[in-house]
Amino acid sequence: MLTYRDYKFFYPCSDFKSYLKNVVWGTIKKYSRIPYCTYMCIKYPFLYPRNRFTGTHRANVLSNVTYNLFEKSILDIGITGKLVKDKPNKINTYIKFLDTTVKLLEDAKKLRINNNIDSQDFDLKPLMWKDDKFEIVDMELTFAHSGRPLIVLKLKTVDENDNTNYGFSYYSVKLKTNKCKYRLYQVVKWIDEKILDKIFILPTFTEWDVVEPGWNKAFGKQYLKELKKQLKKDKMLYKWRITDIKEKFGTFRLYCNYGSDELYNIIHKYEELSWNTCIKCGKPATYTSKGWISPYCDDCVNKDTPDRYTKRTEDNKNGYTENMIY
Ligand SMILES: [Zn+2]
Repeated sequence: MLTYRDYKFFYPCSDFKSYLKNVVWGTIKKYSRIPYCTYMCIKYPFLYPRNRFTGTHRANVLSNVTYNLFEKSILDIGITGKLVKDKPNKINTYIKFLDTTVKLLEDAKKLRINNNIDSQDFDLKPLMWKDDKFEIVDMELTFAHSGRPLIVLKLKTVDENDNTNYGFSYYSVKLKTNKCKYRLYQVVKWIDEKILDKIFILPTFTEWDVVEPGWNKAFGKQYLKELKKQLKKDKMLYKWRITDIKEKFGTFRLYCNYGSDELYNIIHKYEELSWNTCIKCGKPATYTSKGWISPYCDDCVNKDTPDRYTKRTEDNKNGYTENMIY
């Protein structure tokens, strides 16, 4: 939970009243959802909130503290390449900013980045993954919008006739700026990940929370029941994961890690049903909004801006096709 001091730091114009409202009341509201979310996650195990890449539950209890410590103990320096046509007369192999120096080592295979606390060598091989194709002709320092330093290595293809449009990956070097705080950051992060995450396993939200209110009201329960029934049949109830739920082109999209034909039939059935259901209240849709297309009923269209909607007719469902681009 953010302390008032942190809160003022992140939102400089905030007062104590808005801190109480946003942070304190927000936290109470968040934790009061635990019983309901726990019930839902036991009933439908696939609704338990997880990291969609690792599958682990992350409570991130100390995330604000780790973030602050990280920011104060590390200088995150970006490194990337840029293709140039001409070679300058004199190659710049040394950059200095604040107390940090960046030096291209003589064989041009490594970049040495150091300050008075830390020193790191960045191997240029991954950047110039076909290193027989490029030579480094210069380097420069720029700053990203966030203020983060970015070192751009200017590269020239060895083959004059090579017209390939090469794109370069973006790398990051984390240079320590405060050893003590960095050590503390590692300890706090370890406590958060290895201990607190194991204690705070109760969910404060579920994967289903993002479902549009109208759709949830109209068929949310039914959809969940059908998914569970099919997953039981497929023996996938505890292995199945939702990777994303969203509204796209006016329909309910559900993405997952696995699906039998029968399961995908269910997903497609509700996708089509969502197109014909008011996104706000769940009544049958009679209008489609223009621009950002969504289904609306007579009651939920904004009466002040009627030109933003198209009335649906029996033979014109305003463009829902089954296999629309994901
Ligand atoms: Zn409605």
